[in-house]
Amino acid sequence: LSFESSYSSPRAMALCSIFCPRIPVRFRPKPISPFLSKPLFPLSYRVYSSLQPTPSTKDELGSVSIGFLGMGIMGSPMAQNLLKAGCDVTVWNRTKSKCDPLVGLGAKYKSSPEEVTATCDLTFAMLADPESAIDVACGKNGAVSGISSGKGYVDVSTVDAASSILISKQIKDTGALFLEAPVSGSKKPAEDGQLIFLTAGDKLLYEKAAPFLDIMGKSRFYLGDVGNGAAMKLVVNMIMGSMMASFAEGILLSQKVGLDPNVLVEVVSQGAINAPMYSLKGPSMIKSVYPTAFPLKHQQKDMRLALGLAESVSQSTPIAAAANELYKVAKSYGLSDEDFSAVIEALKAARSQQS
Ligand code: NAP
Repeated sequence: LSFESSYSSPRAMALCSIFCPRIPVRFRPKPISPFLSKPLFPLSYRVYSSLQPTPSTKDELGSVSIGFLGMGIMGSPMAQNLLKAGCDVTVWNRTKSKCDPLVGLGAKYKSSPEEVTATCDLTFAMLADPESAIDVACGKNGAVSGISSGKGYVDVSTVDAASSILISKQIKDTGALFLEAPVSGSKKPAEDGQLIFLTAGDKLLYEKAAPFLDIMGKSRFYLGDVGNGAAMKLVVNMIMGSMMASFAEGILLSQKVGLDPNVLVEVVSQGAINAPMYSLKGPSMIKSVYPTAFPLKHQQKDMRLALGLAESVSQSTPIAAAANELYKVAKSYGLSDEDFSAVIEALKAARSQQS
């Protein structure tokens, strides 16, 4: 409270948090999109803390019925966090058995996306790729068939802008609101409620969904028109895919010249190129084990979609194109469902072919 009272606006608080790194995380405000001319949430936006909703907030949260479509690696922990926060959650998944743990925790179950959107005020969808996101939203017994005016649909899957615009149009034709909100962050941040939402679309829905996004995430950006969230997510994952491919090359090169790759990981962690991803994945990559947090097939999908985005504006992306080839090779070796760090196996295969 004393922190809030000494700064008059969220923007000032945001700036302060950038320049005062010792402020504890829980006192830091949510980042505000640089695209906004004024803050969306004057002073009260921090009420919806991702750490602990207050009891009165919990009551408010429980009065909105939430649907969740897609109980994969990301969707399950996200829905679980909503349940834990006291939300009224209804789940659906193509493979029904993946809903069982959530139902065990108190979620309701419906047998189609249509039934979920027909009974819920606000529905989130976390699907694998553009094809499944479109099918679940617009296909037979899809979300569009059940949704109507006064409701909202938030697609948190990683898709391309064109797919998101298509889903948005069909949802909005029913009178309902649409928000795209792909996430940055993987399995662990999803479990910990520490995701970053890259949202775009109906601002009213952004405001209505904010308390729920704040349960599942640590920050959110509002980026304007539908397509901008998808594009931002693809750029981020294009960078990540190239970083991982380069890291894999470095590990193998260090080994080949007789260095200890564990020391390489330590050196990297102390320097300017440090990224949490390297410390997290490096030790298991050295042991050739790849516990899946982000499936390799999804990383390759994101590289493919990012290259399409680059193509659409004639932007040269040779590093990403080369990395994409490596992920394609890894997929051809049957590594689609392994973690994306298994891309190193594609380089090992190339190495053994040479020798
Ligand atoms: P996942 O574990 O593979 O889950 C994919 C979900 O999509 C499952 O619920 C799956 O249902 C469903 N699905 C796939 N094809 C379908 C179809 N044709 N019709 C209906 N449902 C279908 O993937 P995830 O890791 O949770 O990722 C989900 C999305 O988040 C992807 O777009 C991914 O790129 C993105 N993402 C992932 C991470 C991560 O670290 N994992 C991080 C950020 C963003 P079944 O259970 O029936 O197969």
